[in-house]
Order: sequence, then C-alpha cells, then structure tokens
Amino acid sequence: MARTEKPLFRIAYSLYTKTRLGYIFHKKQLKRTREHYPTGHSIVCPMNINGVKILPVPILSDNYSYLVIDVASNFAVAIDPADPEIIQACLEEEGATLEAILTTHKHCPILDKQTIEVGNLRFQALFTPGHTVGHMIYVLDGEPHNSPNCLFSGDLVFLSGCGRIFEGSSSLMLSSLDVVSSLGDETLLWPGHEYAQDNLMFAASVEPNNPAIFTKLEWVLRQRHQNHCTCPSTIGEEKEYNPFLRTHSSSLHDALGIERQPSEDSTSFRSRVLEEITWNKHICLNSRGFPKIYCI
Ligand SMILES: [Zn+2]
Repeated sequence: MARTEKPLFRIAYSLYTKTRLGYIFHKKQLKRTREHYPTGHSIVCPMNINGVKILPVPILSDNYSYLVIDVASNFAVAIDPADPEIIQACLEEEGATLEAILTTHKHCPILDKQTIEVGNLRFQALFTPGHTVGHMIYVLDGEPHNSPNCLFSGDLVFLSGCGRIFEGSSSLMLSSLDVVSSLGDETLLWPGHEYAQDNLMFAASVEPNNPAIFTKLEWVLRQRHQNHCTCPSTIGEEKEYNPFLRTHSSSLHDALGIERQPSEDSTSFRSRVLEEITWNKHICLNSRGFPKIYCI
C-alpha cells in the first residue's frame, strides 16, 4: 500500500514559498536567528583546493549557503544565499566580488546540464526534481584544479538524508537520487542543511546492523558536541550509510521487512522502498514533535 504524508506539510511549504505571508515569515526568521546565532549555528572551516576556496556560510538555524571563490580572480559564486546581509559581510571579509548566484529550489527543467563558468570555476547544473518540481543541483568540476568534483546538493541530499518530497513523487525523487549516485564516489557533498546527527540517528534506527552508520555517527557526535560543521562527506561514504541512496540494498530491504513482488520491476520496487523509508522518517519526526515544516 502506498504511504503518503498528510497534505499539511505541502500546504505549509506552498504558503512559505509562494505567498507574501511566507516572505514575511522568512524575514522574521532571518532576524530572529541572526540575534540567536550572532556567529552562525555552526563553526565552519573554509576548504582550499588548488585555487578554489569553498566557504560554507551558516544561516538560519541549520541552513548552509556557500561561497565558492576563484582565488586567482577573487570572483565568487554564491549558492542559495538566503540571507543577503550575512553573504555580503562574508564577501567583504574575503575581499571577493560576487559574479553569480546559483539557487537550487525553483527552476524550470530547461537548465538541465547547462554549464556555468565564472573565472576558473566551472559548474554543471543538473535537474533533480522531487523536493520541489524545479530543484537543481550544481557540480563544480574539480578537473582543472586537480581535485574531486564538489556537489552542492541543496535540499536533494543531506549527510545521511534527503529532502522532504514537497512537490514531486517518490519515483521522481528516486530518479534524482540516482543522478547523485551516478556521480563519482570521491565527489564531495556540500548539502543545504546541518542535519547529520538527526539523520544518522534515524539511519541507525532503520538499519541497526550497518556498522558504517555508527562509525560516521560517532564522528558526527564529536563534531556536533563542539558545534562544528559536518560537511563535506563524499558520495562514496553516503552510499554506505544514507538509506535514501541504498534503495537497491538487500540488507536495507531485510531491515525494513520489504520484498520485491514478482510483478514489480526494479524501479517500482526501489520507489516503494523509498516511500517506506520516507514514511518511517515522517513517523520518527512526528513522534519527536519535530518543529520544522520545511526542507527536511
Ligand atoms: Zn527546501
């Protein structure tokens, strides 16, 4: 039986993203969290990779924006800069010039596989609907810098998690998750939220016999105890412990007690597995009175 969440979350998300009321709510959130976290919700370290500087920017209570700076030109690309004041302050501190803004949530598919070049930075935009129907992710090409590619995944994939399906369907989300899985295992994952601890605890409840989950959780707990940022992970790591990237895994099927029916093709079955994990997550969040209504 297909399991679907109550429409409440979809309605709330629609109000948040499409109405003046949502915009006012967002502005209030920005103000409140700037006061509550004057230095950001997490301690971040910039990563310098052969002429590229990647700076996670903590905003709101658990979001990350990113600045990607071409060190040679000091041109910067901002990814999901939801708090312009904080981004502007970071740009001034870095002495960088903002040349482009990449957003992940609301696009039309015409952008799929387009290349965006800024200085020595080259990004590929990939259409990945599911969280929203117009969701995009961006892959920074590491080849010119002799480094791994970097995936800026917005709310498609988090460390050990994936975005709530607000506007898409399980099958659409599955095809987008497969885009992520098809990227190289060494690809660095820079997600849109700091959800690692909760996500790994959920993963541990779903697949308690998977040692990779507990190894990563132990590291994440140490990081979060000191309020440190947990990104980046790699796509290779995520395939080991992120249940949303493991819908093909027989050990996950066993843990969920779910079997492929003779009439089911592989994609339909994996889509059903994804629904089951999503449903379990929904129950888990509700049982803990999880307060957030968006981007989970
Ligand atoms: Zn979102």
